[in-house]
Amino acid sequence: MPGRKDIAVKQSIPKEKRYTIDQFNKEFPDDDACLEFIKEQRWPDGIAFCEKCQKETKHHRITGRTAYSCDYCGTHIYPLAGTIFEKTTTSLRLWFYAMYQIGSTRCGISAKQIQRETAVTYKTAWRMFKQIRSLMSDGDLQLEGPTVEMDETYFGGRVRGKGRGPQMENKTPIVGIAERKGRVLAKTSPGQVNAHKLMGMVKEHILPESTVYTDELAAYNYIEKLKSDDGKPLGYQHRRIHHSAKVYVMGDIHTNTVEGFWSLLKRGIGSVYHAVSREYLQSYLDEYCYRYNRKDQGNLIFKSILSEVSAKAK
Ligand SMILES: [Zn+2]
Repeated sequence: MPGRKDIAVKQSIPKEKRYTIDQFNKEFPDDDACLEFIKEQRWPDGIAFCEKCQKETKHHRITGRTAYSCDYCGTHIYPLAGTIFEKTTTSLRLWFYAMYQIGSTRCGISAKQIQRETAVTYKTAWRMFKQIRSLMSDGDLQLEGPTVEMDETYFGGRVRGKGRGPQMENKTPIVGIAERKGRVLAKTSPGQVNAHKLMGMVKEHILPESTVYTDELAAYNYIEKLKSDDGKPLGYQHRRIHHSAKVYVMGDIHTNTVEGFWSLLKRGIGSVYHAVSREYLQSYLDEYCYRYNRKDQGNLIFKSILSEVSAKAK
């Protein structure tokens, strides 16, 4: 288990938002403490519905098992059922530690690092991260403006035979939308990015009457003409920056927010995750957005991720 001190906790995090490894070790000293945490999260005060009694009853822990038992009839409940921990044979505390790490980094953390620090195999570490990442999704976020930036970028796909053939072929387009000084969302867009897709995303994710900043891509041409399904104008304002003319900022016309997110993402995915396959790209995007959208929480993001365990239990 973690021997190094505060490895991922940046000193730049204000004290009240810093959750140190010492605090982690104190709050979660062992697997039992982690299980108790999940149980409390799902059933505060230890009260859970007992199928046999057909009512809410108090439950107590059964030693040596991940189960609790009804105080009256002895029927068991399993706090891990339906959660990402349901079938795991890995220590709960290790899971919590991996969540702590993923919530404490800014640029991402690799399964390799967890493998090095703990006793798990690379495969196990990789699977844990995949599950944890599944918790880190803001779903279909609606951005509230009043000013948002929208941009597209391309990920992956080695460029071969420079100067010959369609080099974008193996690349996956990613579309990002960011509120200035606010939240961000990023979606992979299989196939080509076109006006139909982009306008669909505007309608789905951006509040009507917001001002939308983009580059000069022709596919954005229709933003101001967009209408609701029953034909009412949605009132979007559109401002664009002419990157091809090497203009990047003109007054408040720029897409620096979303581009800042791209560079964070590329720094992270490039250096930490190496090759991310297309299949998993969206979940990595979700991970980065999730952290970005909670950057005012310091590394208490760990607690946010923890709260998703029962929120996203099936
Ligand atoms: Zn009972």
